[in-house]
Parts: sequence; structure tokens; C-alpha cells
Amino acid sequence: MPNAYFNVQEPKNEPYFSFAPGTPQRESLKKRLKELRSEVIEIPAIINGKEVKTGRTADVIMPHNHDHKLATVHLCGEKEVKMAVDAALEAQKEWAELPWEERVAVFLKAADLVTGPWRDTMNASTMLGQSKTPYQAEIEAAGELADFLRFGAWYLAKIMEEQPFSPDSTWNRVEYRALEGFIFAVSPFNFTAIAGNLPSAPAMCGNVALWKPSTESVFSNWFFMQILKEAGLPDGVINFLPGDGPDVGDPVLANPNLAGLHFTGSEGTFNHLWKTIGNNIGNYKTYPRIVGETGGKDFIFAHNSANVDQLVVAALRAAFEYQGQKCSAASRMYVPESIWGEFGEKFLAEVAQIKVGDVEDFSNFMGAVISRKAFDKISGYIDYAKEADDAEIIAGGGYDDSKGFFIEPTVILTSNPKFKTMQEEIFGPVITIYVYKDGDFEKTMDLCDETSPYALTGAIFARDRFVVKMMADRFRQSAGNFYINEKPTGAIVNQQPFGGSRKSGTNDKAGSVMNMLRWLSARAIKEVTVAPTEWRYPYMDEE
Ligand code: NAD
Repeated sequence: MPNAYFNVQEPKNEPYFSFAPGTPQRESLKKRLKELRSEVIEIPAIINGKEVKTGRTADVIMPHNHDHKLATVHLCGEKEVKMAVDAALEAQKEWAELPWEERVAVFLKAADLVTGPWRDTMNASTMLGQSKTPYQAEIEAAGELADFLRFGAWYLAKIMEEQPFSPDSTWNRVEYRALEGFIFAVSPFNFTAIAGNLPSAPAMCGNVALWKPSTESVFSNWFFMQILKEAGLPDGVINFLPGDGPDVGDPVLANPNLAGLHFTGSEGTFNHLWKTIGNNIGNYKTYPRIVGETGGKDFIFAHNSANVDQLVVAALRAAFEYQGQKCSAASRMYVPESIWGEFGEKFLAEVAQIKVGDVEDFSNFMGAVISRKAFDKISGYIDYAKEADDAEIIAGGGYDDSKGFFIEPTVILTSNPKFKTMQEEIFGPVITIYVYKDGDFEKTMDLCDETSPYALTGAIFARDRFVVKMMADRFRQSAGNFYINEKPTGAIVNQQPFGGSRKSGTNDKAGSVMNMLRWLSARAIKEVTVAPTEWRYPYMDEE
């Protein structure tokens, strides 16, 4: 047992490489890209530390070159789920009993592997499998993933220190137990870091997990599983179950040992999972903790005191980086008439310079969207805008899936603040702008707040301090991550804890102590040194 109090050193956010020409990191990343591209790997499930090949397979392709196969992935179903639940529950007996510092040691080591010897692999696999540019991969598949692991360890250490008051003759203690049962971690395609964190945060806390990665990001996610093994994660603690959603999800949610759901993905999927858990509630041994971060319809709202040049850069990066496939991506914008002329001209001039193409060509700012399904959905919105009377496409609007799923950065101008593309999450490189009359400023803020069911991110641009304060107050419930004179994307662990409210999720703030607390179940222990020996109370004495 521990014979000391152990400290976890307060981490620093991982710095990012620039990959500028001439840097050694650029050459090393290019070499790894070439290696990964020139082979086709097999991705099995990992259950109880063992590779399981189910024989039911799917191809993993590059979104920007869909004829190029990167891997064959084995898909799981009911049988593998049962094996994984058995393995996880067995593993939990020892894992949950292991002192917390031994558990976090595994994840601190994994973080150093991510940013050290595996960095190129994490970045290159994220670029090839998810069509991210070098910098978009670096900030998350290396940077944010390591931050999640390092800060998670540090938050857990701080939680352990939280202890209750003890009066005389009493010693009160609180211990932070793992949840009884397993956690179901279900991850989205768009961030390797989120995928890695969803099973890891609960596991650090002593839980065991069944991790269902998205089949659209399984290439990078598979390498993270290998990192965990190299870091010494015991068999069965995190079980890797690629597969189609319902094939894995249905048997998992039917299992009485479900103790929690750690989800990031779309609102529709989360609603379905929550409903299924609700329908099964009588069957579970415990009330499952439900943590889910979902969609967004993130806004930029400019006041006429905004700095136009800063607004241009913020809108361009927030709308088009990673092809608009960040949950935080700006997809609707409100611009006052008095600055629209200058803003519109500068913005469209910059958008026209964006290069879209293969992410291995480092001069490109954008790659392809993730899949044919995404391509069809996004191009459908563009076609809808082309046909509409109350909207026009003022930049982009083109798309081509002959080689990869490429969509031009597209700007829609609408006279209807409730236009379809102002309301619905598109999850692609499309931003819709509504120009408002300066005199309608307050009315337009009300519109912005009421237009979408989501409340994930939002940004305001204004120099007038009274206006900044007024807007921040007005939008209090409109976004869980709110930005002042800054783009609404790019949250950093331990700086801007991330999550939204309303239909954007449970707002348990990934990358914060608030999230870690969800994976712990406290036991309060009261010990009395000198216990009473008289059961009667003084008020009962004779007068
Ligand atoms: P998705 O909902 O299509 O899929 C997410 C995961 O759920 C995938 O692994 C998928 O296979 C799985 N799934 C689907 N049906 C299931 C079922 N019946 N049972 C079990 N699992 C099932 O989402 P996506 O396209 O991968 O990701 C994009 C969405 O994620 C967007 O809506 C985006 O806004 C959201 N997102 C939100 C955040 C956030 O922090 N709020 C971060 C990233 C992404």
C-alpha cells in the first residue's frame, strides 16, 4: 500500500509543431504518411487484451482518395459484446483496487508516448483516415489527446484530496470509488483526442470500459489502443469494439451491468441511446451515469463596433477549418448592415484563396469531408440554397466526389434569419450569413438565441465595452463555450472546459474536474473513536 502522499505535477498544455518548410517535424511526418499509405493493415477488435477477428469486415478508406484502402476493420456484434462485458467485469476486480497513482501512471505514460515516439503515427493516421491537414491533426491527435490524459491525472489527484470536516472523537473520510459495472464509451469520427479520452477518463478513475469507436476514425483510434497496451494498461480494462452502432449498442445497453455512458456524437444518436437506457432502467443494477456531448449550430454575432479584420479571420477559420466538421464550427453569422460592405468584400476575397485537396499536399487549407453520406447531406443543403428565393450562394457552392469527398468552402447569404441553413447542423464547410439593420441589434440577438435548439459555442465581436457586457449577458444560455472577439472553435483542455447546454449535451465539460467526477461514486465513512454508552437524551431527564 502507498506509504506516502503522491503528487501529480501540474501539467502544461502540449506545445504544437508548425510543420513549416525546413523543420525536421515536417520531414518526419511526411515519411510516416508515406509508410502508412503504402500498406493495408487489419484492425481487429481487442477484447481482454487479445485481438479478435470477427470475419465480418469493412474497408477503411481515405476520404480525400476514396479508392485508396487503408485498412480492413473487423466488426463486432452481440457475441463480442458478451465477451467484452465478461472481460471488463473480471478486470475491474483488480483494476478498481489498484491505488489511483498506479492507474494514472499508465495514462501519463500513454500521454508521453502520444507526444513522443507515436506522435507521427497519431498525426499521420488522423490525416489519412479523417482527412485532416497537418496542423489540424497536430492540435488534437497529439496535443489535445495528451492534454486530456495529463490533466485528467492531475484532476483525479486533486479530487482525492477533497475530504470532509471531522469534529472531535470522529474521523470522517470520503473515498472515491469506481462505478460498479462497466462504462460504454461511444466516440465520434471528428476528433481522435475525444475518441481516446472517452474510455480513458473513466478508466483512470478505476472503471472498466467498452469502447465503440466510429468506423470513420477507426484507423487512428486503433493506434491509440496500441499505445495504451504499450503504456501497460491491463487486459480487459478498455475493450475496443469497432462496429455498426446498433450492432454493438443494442446488446451493450441491454446488459444489466451498464454503469455509465460516455458519449460524443450527434443529437439523434444520443437521444436514441438515452431513450434505450430509459426503457431498460428497471433491468440495471445501478442508475447509469449519462454524459453526452452532441451537436451545435454555432454562431458569430458581430456588432458594428467590431474590428472587421479580426472578424474576417475568425469567421474563415471557424467555418472552414477541418471542413466545418468541428462541433464548434461557426455555421451562422449575424453582421450589421453598416459593416457588411467592408466585411463581405474582405471575407469573400480571403475565402477565394482557400485551397481544398489532398491533405498530403501541405499547401491545402482543407481536405475532404468524412464520407459519402456526409458529402450527400452537405451537398443537399447547398442545392437547397441554390433553389431558394430567400438565399443566394455568394462563394463556393461546388462539390466533386470523383476522387475524394470534396466540397468547396461555401458562403450563403440569406434575407431570412430562420432559413433552413441558419437552423440545422450541416457539419460541413458551409456558413450562412444574415445581415441585420443596425437599429435591429437587440431584436436580432433575440433571433440568434431562439433560432437553433443547440447551445454549444458562440462568439461575439464588438469593441464597445458596454455592448460586450450586454451581449455576454443576453447570450448567457445560448452557448456553453462563449467567446469574446475570438473564433468559437479551438477550446483547450484546462483553459476552456468544453461542452454545451440545451440540445448540445449534458455539459459535463470534457477536460475538466467536472467530467472526472461523473466517473466516481463517493463513499462517506464515519468512524467514531469514543462512542456513546448512554442511549437516553438529557431532555428526557426528570425536571
Ligand atoms: P454519430 O452520432 O453519427 O456517431 C457517433 C458514434 O455513435 C459513432 O461511433 C456511431 O457509430 C455511434 N452510434 C450510432 N448509432 C449507435 C447506436 N444505436 N448504438 C451505439 N452507438 C451508436 O456522430 P458523428 O457523425 O460520428 O459525429 C458528428 C457529431 O458529433 C456532430 O453532431 C457533432 O456536433 C458531434 N460532436 C460533438 C462534440 C461536442 O463536444 N459537443 C464533439 C465532437 C462531435
